[in-house]
Formats: sequence, C-alpha cells, structure tokens
Amino acid sequence: MSNESLANLLKEERRFAPPAELAAHANVTAEAYEQAAADRLGFWAEQARRLTWAEEPTETLDWSNPPFAKWFADGKLNVAYNCVDRHVEAGNGDRVAIHFEGEPGDSRSLTYAELKDEVSRAANALTELGVRKGDRVAVYMPMIPEAAVAMLACARIGAAHSVVFGGFSADAVASRIQDADAKLVITADGGYRRGKPSALKPAIDEAVAKCPQVEHVLVVRRTGQDTAITEGRDVWWHDVVGRQPAEHTPEAFDAEHPLFILYTSGTTGKPKGILHTSGGYLTQAAYTHHAVFDLKPESDVYWCTADVGWVTGHSYIVYGPLANGATQVMYEGTPDTPHQGRFWEVVQKYGVTILYTAPTAIRTFMKWGDDIPAKFDLSSLRVLGSVGEPINPEAWIWYREHIGGGSTPIVDTWWQTETGAMMISPLPGVTETKPGSAQRPLPGIAATVVDDEGREVPDGGGGYLVLTEPWPSMLRTIWGDDQRFIDTYWTRFEGRYFAGDGAKKDDDGDIWLLGRVDDVMLVSGHNISTTEVESALVSHPKVAEAAVVGAADETTGQAIVAFVILRGTASEDENLVADLRNHVGATLGPIAKPKRVLPVAELPKTRSGKIMRRLLRDVAENRQLGDVTTLTDSSVMDLIQSKLPTAA
Ligand code: ATP
Ligand code: MG
Repeated sequence: MSNESLANLLKEERRFAPPAELAAHANVTAEAYEQAAADRLGFWAEQARRLTWAEEPTETLDWSNPPFAKWFADGKLNVAYNCVDRHVEAGNGDRVAIHFEGEPGDSRSLTYAELKDEVSRAANALTELGVRKGDRVAVYMPMIPEAAVAMLACARIGAAHSVVFGGFSADAVASRIQDADAKLVITADGGYRRGKPSALKPAIDEAVAKCPQVEHVLVVRRTGQDTAITEGRDVWWHDVVGRQPAEHTPEAFDAEHPLFILYTSGTTGKPKGILHTSGGYLTQAAYTHHAVFDLKPESDVYWCTADVGWVTGHSYIVYGPLANGATQVMYEGTPDTPHQGRFWEVVQKYGVTILYTAPTAIRTFMKWGDDIPAKFDLSSLRVLGSVGEPINPEAWIWYREHIGGGSTPIVDTWWQTETGAMMISPLPGVTETKPGSAQRPLPGIAATVVDDEGREVPDGGGGYLVLTEPWPSMLRTIWGDDQRFIDTYWTRFEGRYFAGDGAKKDDDGDIWLLGRVDDVMLVSGHNISTTEVESALVSHPKVAEAAVVGAADETTGQAIVAFVILRGTASEDENLVADLRNHVGATLGPIAKPKRVLPVAELPKTRSGKIMRRLLRDVAENRQLGDVTTLTDSSVMDLIQSKLPTAA
C-alpha cells in the first residue's frame, strides 16, 4: 500500500441485533468495555483470577523492555492443572470434557476425571522417556483425544509442545523438529481421512532420520494399520502410557514459562515459529472463550471444527474450553465423509449449542447446497463463530440463515497465531452485528487502523491494522530469532504491532478486515482490497467462492484477475464472465471490475483452508511458484495453470 490508503468500496447496510434472551443472560455485557477502558491492566488482572494460581501474581504487565512483554511475571501456575484437575476438585469430574467422534463413526466420551487420569499417566510417561522441564516435544497427530492429552501432558511437566499439522510432509515436519530442537515426537500410526486410514508414522520415520536429537517416538494406535517400529527409539502409547499410575503432582511454573511453539500457516510466506508462554496466554484464551461464545459450562455443548495443528485448535479446542470446564465435541475427519451432511449430523447428535468454524468451510457448504443442512435438526445452536479469513457478507448471511435458523448471532473473530487468542470480535449478547465485519476490539484490547505514515485514519478511512497496546496472550518472540520478531511486527510502525492485514473503519468506527497487506491490489493508483472484490463476486448467485489478485498490467499498473468457483447448480454459460464483471462494477464501482474472470474447480489453499493468493499471482504473472510447502494439493495449481492461456 504505497500511494494512497485503501479504497472503501463495499457498502453493507444489513444489521442484526443480539437475541433478547441471550442478551438478558449474557456472560459479558457492555459494561466490560467501560471497565477495561477505565483500567486496562486492572481488567486483565481481574481476568487472570479466572485461573487457579499456585502463587498469585502481584504484577500485571512488565513492558520495560519492549517489544518483549512479561505478563503476571511473579505468578506461578500449572496450565494442565487449570485445564483438568481443578474441575475435578470442584466436583465436576463426571462432566464430559470431550465427546470424540471418529470419522468411521466410532465415538467415546471422556469425563474430566478420566481426562485427569489420562493426562497424569501421559505426564508420567514423558518423564520416563526423559523429557524434562524446558525441553521441546513435537506432536504430529490426527484429531483424536490423545492429541489434547499429549499437549496437556507436556504443559503439566513444563515441556513446550510444537504441534505440527498431521497433513504436513516429512520435510515440513523435519524442519519444524529441527527448528524447535525437539527430543521426543508424539504421533499415531494414522488417522481416518476421507473414509480410509491415512498413515502418519512413515512421515515421522522419514523426518526423524534427519533429526538426530530425537530420542524417542511415542506412537498412539488409532487405525491399527501396519506400522514399522524402530527398536529402542519407538514405543507404543498403550504400553508406556498405559502402565503408568494415574497420580501425578503438577509442579507450578512461572507465568512466563514457555507453553508452546507453533508455526504460522504460511499463507504469505515462510512459516514463523511463534512462542507462547503460560499465564497471560491462558488468561486471554479462557476469557475470550467465556466472553465471545457466552459459554455456560453446565449446559453448553461446544464444537470447534479446527485441527489441533492450528492455533485455533490450541486456544479454542485445548486451552480455552478446558480451562473453562466446557463440554466439547472433537471430530476426527472431513466434512464430506461419509456424506456432505456430516457436520450437521454431528451437531444434531450431540445437541451442539456453540459452533466455531472457518469461512472456507462455510463457502464449501454453500457450494454443496442449502438442502443438505436442511435435513438435520440444528435448533440447538445458539452462537456461531467464524475465524481464519474475512468472511464474505454473503457467506455470513448464508451461515446465519441455513445453519443458525435465521436468528443465531455470528461472532466473526479476528486474531492470529501471533496474538494467541481473539482480539477483535462482536460479543453475542451486546453487539449489533454487521455481516463481514469483526467490528470492535474486545474489552482490554487496543487496535486501530493507520495510514502509511502511522496516523490513525478517521472513521470511513482505510489502511493497516495495528495493535496499540500489549495484550496478555501476545507472542513473546519468534523462536530463536528475536531480530525477526522485531523486524516483522514492531518496525513498520514505531511502538505498535503491525498485523500485516489491511483494514478499514466504517462510519461507526467498526473495523472491517480487508485481507493481507501483501495481497492488496494497486489499480490505476487506487489500493483495492482483495476481500471486497471477492465478496462482491460471492454476492452473485452463481458464485460460491472467489480469489482475486493484482497482476502486472502495462496500462493500469496492476489489473484484477479473478478466479471463481461456481455454486453447485450454476453452469458456466457464455455470458458468465461478462455478468460477473458487470456485477462487480455495479456493486463496487467500475475501478474494481476484474480484467479477467476465470472459472476454476478449486483454489489453492493452505492446509488450514486459507486462499494462497500469492500462488495465483505467480500464475497470473507467469512466474515460477513460490513456497508451496503448506499448500493442500499441488495438482490444483496445474489445473489452474492449464486454464490460463485461453482466458485473456
Ligand atoms: P503466515 O503468517 O505464515 O502467512 P497466516 O497469517 O495464514 O500465515 P494464521 O496465524 O493462521 O497464519 O492466520 C492469521 C491471519 O488470518 C490474520 O492475519 C488474518 O489475515 C486472517 N484472519 C483470521 N481471522 C480472521 C477474521 N475473522 N477476519 C479476517 N481475517 C482473519
Ligand atoms: Mg500471518
């Protein structure tokens, strides 16, 4: 964004008030904003008291050496104790912590008491395998309860986990093991994906061959498929964990003790190893889960569809919900196995009340058709969440209508691996929501939009999203690379955190996320947001999903190239391209009309489901593709490339 700030093209006038019933009993009311504005640190000190501390902190924030923050630094706690034991001690041991739903249809439910036993056994096993406080453990697992148990067992003994998404290649795993210098890897024989067992252990064997620091591999038996075992190095979970006593005394660690390292999704470039610590992270994960989902642990059934390999899985499957004593669903497989109604079948089966998923999934469900969710009883749902990308207003409306029965509030939560927990989001009992906007920084969070020079833009203006005050769950550094931490986030705007996302403020001062700064297009001197053009395309009845990029153009500097996926019933007739161009022109103005529109079957996405526009830009400009290590399926790029020459 060099020449001028981001153009403000999209006008979205729809508004939805919070349901009266929810508002009347909401966990958090409008007062929280006032309280936090009056005394931000006091507000966070109070939220820290949701946790059980072995030694209560007396300091809240130490910002004497920015950008290296310390939160609650003189407090001590055990994160796993907070997520498990204390609920059992409070008499809730019989409450279900996890309803596990396997892809083949097997299911089991673990109570908090059972979870405590399992985490204690696993902690004893890690100790037997030589893992000590301060060590790193790599976790490469399918979506099974043992993934959460493994993470909590690490937390319990003070070893940092580095969870690597179970779909990554051996090379991607090896580089992450090496970067974090992990001495133990926890994995499984495999998991179920798309109706069949999918092996995980061979990738670990290949990766560990390049990682001499790995002493042991601990293997959960999930699928029972043939699995090579290296004597002396590899051990089975059911042997080593199974024979341990269920008693384990948790040790209290400093609030700033490392909890985990997690690599970003790699949407914009090489993944960064983000370091999170204990007390501040857990405080904000727990508070936001309580506030944004209005969680009532005695009655709600919560389901986050993310994978534990992403930060959403860390903060909103493992740490936030378990710290809050929630009952949740964990689903192993894909949304279309054995049929495209699988998610809705799970919602109906468990009476899910709070659902947290991603725009990529919602757009896929739109593409599959309205009739699929209509076959299931979704009336238990009372809060719907979205995370991962800007949600197009049309997808938001579809989510509310077809999943939320036309009345369930949607919370569009903006945050990043780096922020550790939600930062900008509506509150379901407070906020009048706007489709496509994350709206307002949460209580205790300070964010705004600035121009190129770092000046706050007025309402109605666009530019860069920045966070203006430190927050409890902020990353503490990039693992092993303090300089990259400073350069990436703290150098662009002095004293403020640069998120890397474009954003605008509407006339009410609400924030709309407009995509990555790296993706913003410059057309005839105007900065245009990819998100706005994509949302305009998705608002056409024939389009389910769209990705746009700016490709070098002799006359306009950059020209907009749009890749679109059509909805289930729509066909690719001869007028389609002209119709879509005109539709965008009518919605946003002639400047935003794509020069080219290419219907495609798939879009390149990261394993976490985000569109990788940089690869589309490479294609549109006839360049060699950049880093594809976190791409889901590289054949997608071949298909798109083969479409291009005929399309000009
Ligand atoms: P990398 O930093 O390696 O490119 P990444 O940014 O995709 O990877 P994540 O931390 O998983 O890694 O994603 C955070 C980003 O996701 C945000 O910066 C933002 O661009 C996008 N995002 C997440 N939630 C929302 C949301 N509710 N609205 C808009 N954008 C969102
Ligand atoms: Mg990022």
